[in-house]
Amino acid sequence: MPDLLEVKNLKTGFHSENGFLPVVHGVSFNVKQGEIVGLVGESGSGKSVTSLSVMRLFHDTPGEIVEGEITYKGKNLLDLTEKEMTSYRGKELSMIFQEPMTALNPVLKIGRQMRETIMMHMGMNKKDAHQYAIETLESVGIPRAAEIMNEYPHQLSGGMRQRVIIAMQISCNPSLLIADEPTTALDVTIQAQILKLLERIQAKTNMGILLITHDLGVVAEICDRVIVMYAGEIVEEATAVELFENPQHPYTKGLMNSVPKIGSKKKRLDSISGTVPNASNMPKGCKFAPRCPYAMPICQEKEPGLIASENHSARCWLLDEETVKEEEKQIDY
Ligand code: SF4
Repeated sequence: MPDLLEVKNLKTGFHSENGFLPVVHGVSFNVKQGEIVGLVGESGSGKSVTSLSVMRLFHDTPGEIVEGEITYKGKNLLDLTEKEMTSYRGKELSMIFQEPMTALNPVLKIGRQMRETIMMHMGMNKKDAHQYAIETLESVGIPRAAEIMNEYPHQLSGGMRQRVIIAMQISCNPSLLIADEPTTALDVTIQAQILKLLERIQAKTNMGILLITHDLGVVAEICDRVIVMYAGEIVEEATAVELFENPQHPYTKGLMNSVPKIGSKKKRLDSISGTVPNASNMPKGCKFAPRCPYAMPICQEKEPGLIASENHSARCWLLDEETVKEEEKQIDY
């Protein structure tokens, strides 16, 4: 499958009173056509800033992409003018956010918001856009779609609002959909329905999906491949099957231990102690060292690179046999 999106050495940060604070430190990954890729990490790991960078959505914020390439269908999005980028957003690349209320205009009826998106990107007249909007709402499982066109966002439940957003974002047949925590604000039953819906849409349209989440349970449901981020870096990447069978990075293992397992008798889940370091105060060496139960002396001094094997890579000194031997020798003395 060809690459739809290729991100190379992306560096993004925010300007603050204390100068520029880097948040994403040279991230590289790709999304192929027809693939669902999960970008996973705790809050503060840099995953949302990475997705906002792909969409170049830093208006009215002090965010800036300072280095890297974001190639979509062979074109570097960072070379586009803002006007050109606007025509890509919604038509080629779409994004769904966690809280649908922020993406919908509360004072405009659903119908008008749907129609305007469709007319802008699909070049349809008002009548055709109206009919197409109803069909798209029906395709995402919205009952009484024609009536809902006449309602305001606050008249719908959270789950229905998220379906409206999904309908709006897929109405222009984008090739890449970025879904940032699309189910976090919803209750568990609705979460499962929305994930199934995304999976069904992907299978029907063959679009690529980049799914941003803090929840490995969500990843296990629908992703083909998983990228784990910590403190602005990729710390592990593998196919979903491989990652769940053979997690390599202590952070990924910690995330897995905090996901409830079906049939487990454990009452309390193990969470990872500590928090993601602040962008203004990154530890030296491995950024996970202050929280890592396996940290060795070298971890506090030198940052590991990504160590790759077939279909799997992870950023941890434990995967480098020579280093582990050296560290053991030092401890023996
Ligand atoms: Fe832990 Fe060291 Fe591996 Fe970092 S490099 S995850 S501190 S063992």
